[in-house]
Amino acid sequence: LTMLAAGTLGGVFGLLLASYLSRPVDPVAELDRALAANEFKPYVQPTFRLKTGDIIGCEILARWEKPDGRLIPPMSFIPLAESSGRIEKLTWQLLKTALRELQPEMKQDKLFKLSVNITPRHLLGDRFIDDLRKTVASSSVSTRQVVLEVTEREELADLDKATDVVKELGELGFRVALDDVGIGHSGLSYIQRLGARILKIDKFFVDAITRDQSAIVVVQMLVALARELDMSVVAEGIEHQEQVDALIACGVEEGQGYLVAPPLSLGRFKQFLDVRRVSAVPGRAAKPELA
Ligand code: C2E
Ligand code: MG
Ligand code: MG
Ligand code: MG
Repeated sequence: LTMLAAGTLGGVFGLLLASYLSRPVDPVAELDRALAANEFKPYVQPTFRLKTGDIIGCEILARWEKPDGRLIPPMSFIPLAESSGRIEKLTWQLLKTALRELQPEMKQDKLFKLSVNITPRHLLGDRFIDDLRKTVASSSVSTRQVVLEVTEREELADLDKATDVVKELGELGFRVALDDVGIGHSGLSYIQRLGARILKIDKFFVDAITRDQSAIVVVQMLVALARELDMSVVAEGIEHQEQVDALIACGVEEGQGYLVAPPLSLGRFKQFLDVRRVSAVPGRAAKPELA
């Protein structure tokens, strides 16, 4: 009888264990675990001068490095991080790491700019400017070298509030870039009034520019608008040299895209900069024994 009871108990325990192990993971708990384990990494994509190919900065693009080696793209976890109130912690984690790791490069090249994507609601939150100041101050990188990228969405609809925040950030030395311009919600009045210093033309127009005259007209119009508003222009998602040529012809000066590099881990990005620096030294390329 005891053996029977023990067997039954064992069976029940086994069943409980099996259901415990196979229970669906709570995605928010998984996010918290990954945050605590530092699994979100700031990958960075270089920004370059279209005419020369010179690297002028980079944009942080979040990646989730899972323990099993998989690399998860931002669209699979950023929306949940936003809706669950974890985006603030995630953003500061990414920016802190990137500032710490890129500090030597950013001190050596005072014009190098590090961009970070900021969710509109985070930008407009009460603590944003204070937290940003503290994060950057603890890194000894100048506020002038930090760019905040925002995409216009319904949350940014309070244009007066958004304009105030952008102004205050500007007084502290930070620059704001308006991301994904041309698709979605970025209305012209919005671009005109926000006070952002950088206008990022969406990949949509870069894709179309070599085959569609109307895309050229849109890009030319955005360049003219940016000049009028004293903004610089960055084109996103450049994959081919013909796109670079067409963008230059439209007056665009800066860009980003797989043509130069995809988003890279910080280690790979540092290697990338080293290789570019070596090959940029005059005469160096011709003397491989010096490399
Ligand atoms: P985004 O800020 O507009 O970033 C540009 C996206 O285009 C990135 O996708 C980048 O990897 C991709 N891209 C760049 N060059 C090329 C190219 O030549 N060809 C192609 N096909 N794609 C290119 P990614 O990394 O998947 O990020 C998607 C979006 O997720 C970003 O769009 C941004 O809105 C958001 N995101 C990424 N990281 C963060 C973050 O840390 N915080 C927040 N709030 N949003 C983030
Ligand atoms: Mg961006
Ligand atoms: Mg963008
Ligand atoms: Mg985009």
